[in-house]
Amino acid sequence: MMYYYCERCNRAIKKPYPSKKYCSVGCRENSRQLRVEEQEIQFWNSIKPLVVTADEQQVLDQMDPAPRAGLVIERMAPSGAVGYRVGCRRIGSEAYTVHWFPTARQRPPSLFKLNPVELPLEIPCPAEYVVVYFDASGRPFATPCFKLFLRGRVISVNWSDGDRRLLIHRSPS
Ligand SMILES: [Zn+2]
Repeated sequence: MMYYYCERCNRAIKKPYPSKKYCSVGCRENSRQLRVEEQEIQFWNSIKPLVVTADEQQVLDQMDPAPRAGLVIERMAPSGAVGYRVGCRRIGSEAYTVHWFPTARQRPPSLFKLNPVELPLEIPCPAEYVVVYFDASGRPFATPCFKLFLRGRVISVNWSDGDRRLLIHRSPS
């Protein structure tokens, strides 16, 4: 008789249910969850903080945090970008799950605008955020993509309200 071994707990699987890989629904779910977490960690660590020159930093240091972030985001925007989203991890959490802002409820279609730049104020907390730019058809730019420390001012926005999906739903026009 052929035996399989659970990829999660290493127990022999005599009846290949629910699959040949896992002994139980629990092991399959745990394993899926671990893979998701690995991807989340990998995504977060793959994005580097924005580096500015010392001269630029001196200018930036004299500005208030919100306009400063706006200026940096505007300067870094690739040509063709019409908006951007920012995403952060939950403060105090071990998890690497990122929630994205603004949500469609805050600002349809889930974008802070560029030209002129909308300041990233409607965010849940002061934290390190990933900044992603979008073009007019709602597609994200792969680069530039960087981390930036943002200080939110709107207290009614909770991290849990954010989107788990980076991509936006744009109704065809
Ligand atoms: Zn198992």
